[in-house]
Amino acid sequence: MTKSDLLIIGSGPGGYRAAQYAAQHSLSVVIVEAEDAGGTCLNRGCIPTKTLCRNAEIIDTLHEANTFGLEGEGYALNFAAVMERKNQVVNQLRSGVEALMKQPNITMVHGFAKFKDLKTVVVNEEEYTADNIIIATGSDSKCPPVEGLQLPGVINSTQLLSINHLPKRLCIIGAGVIGMEFASVFSSFGTQVTVVEFLKECLPVLDSDIAKRLRQTIGKRGVEFSMQSAVKSITETTDAEGNRQLTVNYEKKGKPLHTDADLVLIATGRKPNTEGLELEMAGVEYSPKGINVDDDFQTTTANIYAIGDVNGRCMLAHAATFQGLHVVNKILGKTDNIKFDIMPSAIFTNPEAASVGPTEDQLKAEGRQYECRKGFYRSNGKALAMNETDGMLKLLVDTADNNRIIGCHAFGAHASDLVQEVSTLINLGATTQQLADTIHIHPTLSEILHDIVC
Ligand code: FAD
Repeated sequence: MTKSDLLIIGSGPGGYRAAQYAAQHSLSVVIVEAEDAGGTCLNRGCIPTKTLCRNAEIIDTLHEANTFGLEGEGYALNFAAVMERKNQVVNQLRSGVEALMKQPNITMVHGFAKFKDLKTVVVNEEEYTADNIIIATGSDSKCPPVEGLQLPGVINSTQLLSINHLPKRLCIIGAGVIGMEFASVFSSFGTQVTVVEFLKECLPVLDSDIAKRLRQTIGKRGVEFSMQSAVKSITETTDAEGNRQLTVNYEKKGKPLHTDADLVLIATGRKPNTEGLELEMAGVEYSPKGINVDDDFQTTTANIYAIGDVNGRCMLAHAATFQGLHVVNKILGKTDNIKFDIMPSAIFTNPEAASVGPTEDQLKAEGRQYECRKGFYRSNGKALAMNETDGMLKLLVDTADNNRIIGCHAFGAHASDLVQEVSTLINLGATTQQLADTIHIHPTLSEILHDIVC
C-alpha cells in the first residue's frame, strides 16, 4: 500500500494543476491517470481544436489575400500536414505535463482508479491511500437517443480529431461550443458544413444578440444552419454516383427534412465520468449531472473533493484548474479569493465570441437596473488595420451601484482577450470611471472598451 497526503484521480487541467500546486506546497501527491497525461483538454479538447482553429484562421486570411496586396496562385490544403502539426503541438504539451508530474513530491500512476473505501483507491490491483482525495475524472461525449448512431461515419469530437482525410460534407448535430467551433474550422478547410440544432439559437450560453450575430457571420461564410430541428434518425443511403453516404433525417416545424453528408459529428453535450469509480464504496453521492459538491467542491464524504467536468458545474478547462487550486488551498488551510461566479469563457470560431458575467436577458429577468454600452469593431483603428471590422462588444454596468462593471459579451477578432480584461475589472469591482481613467495602448482592439466608457 502507498500512502500520500493527497491522491488525485485524473490528470486533466483540474488534476495535474492541483498536483503541481499541492507539491509546491510540500504535500506528497499520487496522481492516477487511465489514459494520456493532460486529459481531455490537452489530448482531445482545447489544445488540438485551437491548433486547428489557427490553421483555419490562416486559410481565412489567405482568402483575403488580394485585400492585403498579395497576388498569385494560392495554396492547396495538405490535410495530413494540418493534422500532423496538431499532433506535434499535443505531443509537445503532453511531454511537458509528464515532466511536471515527475517532480519531487509527485508520483504518477498509470491505470484506472476505483474506490475501495473513503481513503483508499485501487489501481492495477495496488492500493493507494491518502488523507484527502480529489476526483478530477472529467467528462465524455453524450449521445442523443437517435437511431443510426452506430453507423460508420457517425462520430464524436475525439474521433473527428483523428480523421485522416478531409470530408467533402460534414453534418454537425448540435450548435453548442464544440459544434460551432468545428463548423467554423471545417468550413474554412473547404468542407460543406450543415449544422442541425434543436434550439432556436446557437450557443445558449451566450448573450442571445451576440449568438445570433455570430451565427449570421459564420452563415455568410458558407455554413448552413437548420435551427429548431429535431433529429429523428441517421441512415445509410447512396448519392447520385452510387457512393455510400449518411443521411440525417430531422423534423423542422412539423416538416420532415434531411441532409446528406460523408461524416456526421454528434456534438450534443458531455456527460461526467463517474462510471467504474465505485463511488458508493466511499459514500460519494452523484447523479447523471455529476458528483454532488458544495461551494468548496467537497463531496458528500468530507475528505473527498470533485473538481472540473465531473461535478458538472462548469465544463471549462480553467474552471477545472481554479476549482483544483481552491481545493488544495482548503486542504492547506489557506484562504483565497477566487470568485467562481465570475467565469469568463470563449468560443474560438472565426470570429471568436466571448463572455463574462450575466447576460442582458438574465439581468432583465432579475429586474436589475443596468445599462448596456455597445462598441463596434468597425470604428476601431486597429480592427480596420487588421481588416477585422466584423464584431461588437457589449459592456453591462450596474447603474444602481456607481456604474460598476458587471458583464461583457463580445464577438469579433480576439474577443477572448477583450473579455479577459473586463473579467479582471469585474474581479476588482471596477467602475466605468475607473476603466475610463485607465490608459490603453493605441492602437489596440481594447480601445473599443475604453471608447465606450469615455
Ligand atoms: P479532463 O480534462 O477530462 O481529464 C480527466 C482525466 O481523468 C482524463 O485524462 C481521464 O482519462 C482520466 N480518468 C477518468 N476516469 C479515470 C479513472 N477512473 N482513473 C484514472 N483516470 C481517470 N474548455 C475550455 O476551457 N476551452 C476550450 O477551448 C475547450 N475546448 C474544448 C474542445 C473540445 C472538443 C472538448 C471535448 C472540450 C473542450 N473544452 C474546452 C472543455 C475542456 O476540455 C474540459 O472542461 C476540461 O478538460 C475538463 O478538465 P478536467 O480536469 O475536469 O477533466
